[in-house]
Amino acid sequence: AVPVIAIDGPSASGKGTVAQRVAKALGYHYLDSGAIYRIAALAALRRGISWQDEAALAKLAQELDICFLDDEIYLDGEIITEAVRTEEISRGASEVAVHPALRRALLNLQQSFRKAPGLVADGRDMATVVFPDAQTKIFLTASAEVRAERRYKQLIEKGIHANLAEILQDLQTRDARDSQRAVAPLQKSESARLLETSDLSIDQAVEAILDYSRA
Ligand code: C5P
Repeated sequence: AVPVIAIDGPSASGKGTVAQRVAKALGYHYLDSGAIYRIAALAALRRGISWQDEAALAKLAQELDICFLDDEIYLDGEIITEAVRTEEISRGASEVAVHPALRRALLNLQQSFRKAPGLVADGRDMATVVFPDAQTKIFLTASAEVRAERRYKQLIEKGIHANLAEILQDLQTRDARDSQRAVAPLQKSESARLLETSDLSIDQAVEAILDYSRA
């Protein structure tokens, strides 16, 4: 089977950056599954579909015209890379993600990213649900305080006004929703290796995953 490195973990754990670097080092494809939930939330917002309307969201998911190309995300042919990163859409993604019918509807789309020579998949349920047969499974985390600080620094660097206390509060709300939902809650798969990155640099986290994947 085409090898998969599944990297799960909470918001702002640095998974995205680390997963992309691992994919690049190995020449593998990369799946940002969080972006898919973000796109679903944005598409719903634009079409006037409520984030609570499970049936309509599942139907919408079947019709999504999404494309990932050259670091840009397209929805219906339009670039939405920045539009899916707002705080509103972060909240929307975690709200739509609680619906089992929507999650089922997005399964094939996510699995279609598994192509030779391999895939690095980043999300919440990559090891548990989407790629249970992944060769390498990592649960990447960091303390809420460290994650909030990382997010804060990113925003400040981009010249975006940010409040550390609010970011920490939002992260904790989203973590709680992601780990307490009935379907595919955020949790470490029994077979996943725990990678605590509070005291690791990005390079060190990337190296650790490359080591695991060779083991
Ligand atoms: O990783 P990211 O912050 O972009 O994910 C946005 C939201 O999408 C998460 O808060 C989570 O609720 C949801 N998600 C999910 N399953 C995944 C990836 C993301 O439920 N595999």
